Amino acid sequence: MLNKEQFADNHFIRTIIEEDLKNGKHTAIQTRFPPEPNGYLHIGHAKSICLNFGLAYVYDGACNLRFDDTNPEKENQEYVDSIKEDVQWLGFQWAGEPRYASDYFDQLFEFAVGLIKDGKAYVDDLSADEMREYRGTLTQAGKESPYRNRSVEENLDLFMRMKNGEFLDGSKTLRLKIDMASGNVNMRDPVIYRIRRAHHHKTGDKWCIYPMYDYTHCISDAIENITHSLCTLEFEAHRPLYDWVLENIPTPSKPHQYEFSRLELLYSITSKRKLNQLVSEKYVNGWDDPRMPTISGMRRRGYTPEGLRLFAKRVGISKSENVVDISVLEGAIREELEDSAPRMMAVLNPLKVTLTNFETGKTLSRRHAYHPNHEEMGDRELTINPTIYIERDDFSEHPPKGWQRLTLGGEVRLRYSYIIKCDEVIKDENGQIIELKCSIDHDTLGKKPEGRKVKGVIHWLSTEHAVPATVRLYDRLFTTERPDAMRGENGEYLPFTDFINPNSVAEITAWVEPVANTLNKESHWQFERLGYFVTDRYDHQSDKPVFNKTVGLKDTWQK
Ligand code: ATP
Ligand code: MG
Repeated sequence: MLNKEQFADNHFIRTIIEEDLKNGKHTAIQTRFPPEPNGYLHIGHAKSICLNFGLAYVYDGACNLRFDDTNPEKENQEYVDSIKEDVQWLGFQWAGEPRYASDYFDQLFEFAVGLIKDGKAYVDDLSADEMREYRGTLTQAGKESPYRNRSVEENLDLFMRMKNGEFLDGSKTLRLKIDMASGNVNMRDPVIYRIRRAHHHKTGDKWCIYPMYDYTHCISDAIENITHSLCTLEFEAHRPLYDWVLENIPTPSKPHQYEFSRLELLYSITSKRKLNQLVSEKYVNGWDDPRMPTISGMRRRGYTPEGLRLFAKRVGISKSENVVDISVLEGAIREELEDSAPRMMAVLNPLKVTLTNFETGKTLSRRHAYHPNHEEMGDRELTINPTIYIERDDFSEHPPKGWQRLTLGGEVRLRYSYIIKCDEVIKDENGQIIELKCSIDHDTLGKKPEGRKVKGVIHWLSTEHAVPATVRLYDRLFTTERPDAMRGENGEYLPFTDFINPNSVAEITAWVEPVANTLNKESHWQFERLGYFVTDRYDHQSDKPVFNKTVGLKDTWQK
């Protein structure tokens, strides 16, 4: 559930909106989230979604979902569907139907014709290479194309024929006539239409010319009466072009673009193109692999919408660099799950313990709540039996100093149960420990032991009641902070795929409480002392539980 409290963060865009509302520039806020459907959304998009939908929510305005679909070769319906699902899963709803830049292709074409008639656009025959040459550099003015001064009639005729498919792909473009000497390269007669015989996921084969992003985006904003068009900082230098287009065509409104910094997550990648490579080259099992920083991957890993919204709030909105350690993301997820996830015991790497003085009728089991602060989550009996499993790690024959768990001759408390003492260690012929024999202090159920302190508490399960579960353990996908910025000996960029962690996933069979056999898919649980886990969105079945590890209980990233 959303509440306005969650968005009670202050940043420069909110200050602008407050002022625009106060001085009557706008009476209502209209934002939009404009993904290109060329991949699944990632954590960076989550930040943008929380900003755009969050602002609309806080100011009782509206936020559109608009697919920016001007590159038909890379776009498809699967991506459209996944984007809609991800936005809704994050807790947001767009105003009305989803919109598509391609809905506006006819209007965009009409506006282009208008620009030609006004002498503000021309058809150019320069090839892509020539155009690059003519464009100049940051320090050097560009050169005007020899085709720049074609007559309006000739331009109109050529543009119609471009549209009608009379010319080869790439042989002509439509360009704005702005200023080849501008200090801003984006203003040097930018291309606004190119010829591309590509099938479009919405418009099919209707068009063989497609408008460019810079031209399309501002007009789409204007058609939708967007009041605040929010985008990432790399578009700052495009703003003069955004404004130029809107000043030179008769649009119904004049939106304003504001830029904020892009989120970068260390040990991760925030680029759809690179994420696509991980999928297509099979480094991961699809876009929603739990190791992926995609929204659907994080969902499958057990991250929650509430946790991701908390993260977005924490990283904030500004114009300064937004490089965030993954521990900030994990911290937000952990914090949210601490209160919302019920708890059970699970043993991932079992060691059998025989309780030598177990006595039916004397050795008692207790009921315990699934969450210490939430009675409504229910409780269950934690049945104790003559044999139990404990975690192999919780026993050491030669413990380090300060060891508080079990050792030969030492005592430990079984969580919610008795204190036990280890009397004997049983090994196989290879010297591997296969069993412990322990005795129960029957005078310690729900009370402290007499005359001594026992600090350690370990989790356990009755061998008779424990049920098996598949548990998938995930680690970071990359071995370095900035996998896409690593350089080799000669300063050349190395492929980010060189830095994939080969041990980022392990699958084990573990023992869990019987409640696992009653769970639905996507149930979030804490395994006591181990971390947060979620039943897999696809593979979990109540009779064959499958858990994915979401995050550990403590931050293990800082060394
Ligand atoms: P990618 O390079 O991953 O494809 P993009 O910016 O090209 O990213 P779009 O689909 O065009 O992806 O993005 C939709 C919206 O999400 C845009 O407004 C964009 O600015 C925003 N966005 C994308 N990546 C980030 C990020 N890392 N941090 C914040 N906002 C982002
Ligand atoms: Mg893009």
